[in-house]
Parts: sequence; structure tokens; C-alpha cells
Amino acid sequence: MRSGRHFLQIPGPTNTPERILRAMHRSVIDHRGPEFAELGQGLLKDLKRVFKTQNDVITYPASGTGAWEAALVNTLAPGDTVLMYETGQFATLWKNMATKLGFDPLFMQGDWRNGTNAEAIAAQLQADAQHQIKAVCVVHNDTSTGITSNIAAVRSAMDACQHPALLMVDTISSLGSIDFRTDEWGVDVVVAGSQKGLMLPPGLSFNAVSQKAWEACNTRGDRRSYWDWRDMKSPNEAGYFPYTPATTLLYGLREALDMLEEEGLDNVFARHARHAEATRVAVEAWGLEILASNPDERSNSLTAVVMPDNQGADALRKIILDEFDMSLGTGLNNVADRVFRIGHLGDFNDLMLMGTLAGVEMGLAKSGVTYQPGGVQMAMNHLVS
Ligand SMILES: *Cc1c(COP(=O)(O)O)cnc(C)c1O
Repeated sequence: MRSGRHFLQIPGPTNTPERILRAMHRSVIDHRGPEFAELGQGLLKDLKRVFKTQNDVITYPASGTGAWEAALVNTLAPGDTVLMYETGQFATLWKNMATKLGFDPLFMQGDWRNGTNAEAIAAQLQADAQHQIKAVCVVHNDTSTGITSNIAAVRSAMDACQHPALLMVDTISSLGSIDFRTDEWGVDVVVAGSQKGLMLPPGLSFNAVSQKAWEACNTRGDRRSYWDWRDMKSPNEAGYFPYTPATTLLYGLREALDMLEEEGLDNVFARHARHAEATRVAVEAWGLEILASNPDERSNSLTAVVMPDNQGADALRKIILDEFDMSLGTGLNNVADRVFRIGHLGDFNDLMLMGTLAGVEMGLAKSGVTYQPGGVQMAMNHLVS
């Protein structure tokens, strides 16, 4: 038995607010009945505002990984080359998936400390005179490294060499936390999920689909069934889905969209930026390093912190969980046990941030890790300044 509330400060799933929990605590309705149509039509329309798009938003009862697969299988033919960029573990997993599905990823190597390099992408596209590359796939906010890439710069690079590839972007840990502009940045397929910035439990994922991506769907996409965008088209127009949707999560989504609207998206982004900044102030005061080396690419939804002198991040995380009942994100793959990640996204406020940072600082004290005390005080100063 642990008294008080658990601190779920992994970078997704995030804390689900009471309002959303209550909204989901309802009987499931007939997903082919008239009441459902109203829910479905409202959601499919209002989702567009969060994506900043006029395009269709396809909604799946699936984790984010499903929406990755949907993006690929709907637009590409077997053997198609896809340009992907290693910003961390999530970019790597998407690349592995492309390989498994029979596509041919051209994986541009990164160092897990920097975001996408638009100039390097431009050089690759320039060299592709035959237009073998059918899609450029990048992760907006790589949750393993806490790096946010400049998507507008990737778009400009593609435009500068007039390359016709589709631009597909994973926004699973940025949508609803960090500004993302689908239409302005000419993103053909956006991949998103429910359990991060949208504050919902896991189980929904999304593709926002441009006209150009629909054309690829009709002409290139090959073997797909569950993920087939085409089967969504006519049911969605009437507010329905081709198979049973995750009705309960959709009630929650209705509430989440209302909450984002009430706060205002710009205020949501500013809140995340402020909490991220205060977190970075604390980390720097502790004398620890932030994994993202370029200050302009440091994520506003999470911070990946490098452990000093090869001291284990997992031992620190264990102490923090055991002693203070707080879950922090683990280091993945290349940075396993080398970093821990502080999630500061979703339903979050100043005191939740201070509780989180206090838990980290107390854990540092208990674990014997080399650090400077006082990061919490510096973060408090930052928040009240
Ligand atoms: C969480 C996450 C995923 C994976 O989503 P699942 O819901 O776990 O399938 C993919 N990409 C990014 C950037 C993520 O943060």
C-alpha cells in the first residue's frame, strides 16, 4: 500500500485528467446508431484544429505503432525507397518496421544528440534524380532522446530540390504539446497517438492525410486491410467507422479536445515551453547534461538527462520509484542505463513539475550520484520570475 498519488512522469502515457476519466465512465453505445454519428462527426471535424489541417484525420483503435504502419502501407508499393533519419529509438523502430514491411529504407545516420539535418536531407534528395525516394519519414519529437526536429526546414529542403516524395511525420509525443502545423508545413501524412499530449489512455492513433497522400493511397498502396484508409472514407463522412471503434476512448477524446480548446492551443504550447525551460534550469543546476546538444532542438515535452561518469540511470530510477513512488522514463537502446527521461507533458502544472523535480533531486541525493544540490530552487526561481 502506498499512500498519496503516484507520479507518472514518463513521456507517455501521461497523466489522464479527472475530467477525461469521468467522461469515459459511461456505457458503450451502438457504434452504428444515431447517437454515435453525432460523436464521430464532431470528433473528426474538431481533430483537424489540433493537427492544424483541413485534411482528413483517420482514427484507429490502435497504439501509435499502428498509425506508423498505416502511413507506410497506404502510400507505398513493395520495394519503394523511403528516406528516414535517425533521431533516436523511435526513428529507428519506424525504420525497422519499413524493412519488415518490404520497403527499402535509406536510413540517414544520426548521433542521438541532434535532430534532422535538413541540408543533408536536401543533398540526398538532390542526388535522387530518378525520384526513387517515395517518402521522407521523420519524427518531430523523438521521445527517446528529447529532440525536436525542425519540420519546416525539412519541407523547405524538399521544395528547394522540387522532389515529389511524400513528407510523413511522427508527432506522437508532440501533438497537443509542441506547435505542429500540418498544412503550413505541407505534411502529407501525420502520425499521432492518444496517450501523450492528448492526455488519454493508450489505444487511439491517427493519420492526417493530404490530397497527395490520398492519391498515393489510390495508386501505390498495396496490401492492407485493417489499415486501409479507403474503407474509412465513406463511413467517416457520416461519423461512423468501418469496424468497431474504441467508443470509450472516443468519449475521452471529446473531453480532451474540449479541454485543449478551452485552454487555447497557444497557451498549451506556452505552458509546455515554460515547464521544459524550468526543467532544463534544474538539470543544469544539478550539473548534469541534457542529451539534446542543440538548445534549439530541446524538447518541450520531455527532457533526457545524461548520467555523470557512467553511473547507472536505472539504479537512480529504481530508488526514485521505490522511495518516492515516481516513474521516470528509461533510457532506450543506445542510451540504455545512460539517460533517464523526465516527462513534462500533457495534464501538468507548476506544482506537479516541482513535485517531479523534487523527486529527482531527492533521488540524486539518496543514490550517491555526483550532482550539485539546488536545482529545485533554481526551477522555482524560474517559475516565479
Ligand atoms: C510513444 C511513441 C511511439 C510509439 O507509440 P505506441 O503507442 O507505443 O505504439 C512512436 N513514436 C513516438 C515519437 C513516440 O513517442
